[in-house]
Amino acid sequence: MEIRKVAVIGAGVMGAGIAAHLANAGVPVLLLDIVPEGAEDRDALAKGALERLRKAKPAAFMHRGAARLVTPGNVEDHLERLAECDWIIEAVVERLDVKQALYRRIEAVRRPDAVVSSNTSTIPRARLVAGLPEPFAASFLITHFFNPPRYMRLLELVAGPEVRPEAVEAVAAFCDRRLGKGVVRCKDTPGFIANRIGIFWMQTALAAAIEQGVPVEEADAVLGRPLGIPKTGVFGLADLVGIDLMPHLMESLLATLPPGDPLRAVAEVPPVVARMIAEGYTGRKGKGGFYRLR
Ligand code: NAD
Repeated sequence: MEIRKVAVIGAGVMGAGIAAHLANAGVPVLLLDIVPEGAEDRDALAKGALERLRKAKPAAFMHRGAARLVTPGNVEDHLERLAECDWIIEAVVERLDVKQALYRRIEAVRRPDAVVSSNTSTIPRARLVAGLPEPFAASFLITHFFNPPRYMRLLELVAGPEVRPEAVEAVAAFCDRRLGKGVVRCKDTPGFIANRIGIFWMQTALAAAIEQGVPVEEADAVLGRPLGIPKTGVFGLADLVGIDLMPHLMESLLATLPPGDPLRAVAEVPPVVARMIAEGYTGRKGKGGFYRLR
């Protein structure tokens, strides 16, 4: 199986970054998002995401030539174009119902040999494919890219016993050789490996700093380097990842963690974080976050 063309569905923080990384590697990409409410341009979300990537750091994120390899569109008008793609990457909001509804639509149009994968951070593969047709499950993987996709070398790959072996091997080889990722094959556990550990310390650090009134800069100076994230620290990382992602991550982890699991003790999203999300302070992609308040 050869991967020549890829579709990325969801042009948010991750989808746009994954599309840019693929294009920089010379791979044609179809980037789809939903139709913005009341917008005259039905492709505005995907186009806007590309424009932001080009403007943010032209050389780093989107080479001029590579940008031409990305075709932006929306899932209502362009879904049937998925039949052109060998690999379809889902990077929409971290909600099981939204993802599953999309998979049903993808299944109706994809080629039988095309691989579908999710960029989910926490939802186990078994829950994502539950109730979906067998051929879909046989072609479905989790390919968990990290943020920012261009720089983070780690990629977690989760398959299931029913997945076609050639689909797993083709995606693993492509991510390794073409995209330069260190592919780690994970068991289908909640949060896989990195997020299961990462969310634990992120939540604990946020809660402790807020409770003790430690300024974010001080907390990050202490917590960043020892935890291996020197550039952003913990609060800076939350701004980068998207603060609104945290409740979704915690909800889907909680839904799958057994009673008594130690992660349950730190799973509550602090009230100040809930308030920030409600007011649009979702981090770099929003009005600002713990840093960069505009
Ligand atoms: P985001 O909110 O930035 O973007 C999600 C995009 O999906 C939005 O543009 C939204 O309009 C679009 N969308 C929603 N429903 C859709 C649908 N039905 N069809 C097409 N598009 C739809 O989210 P994100 O941070 O990019 O996260 C996307 C996925 O990647 C999630 O599963 C998340 O858990 C995972 N993830 C996120 C990070 C991170 O650091 N943000 C890291 C690794 C994995």
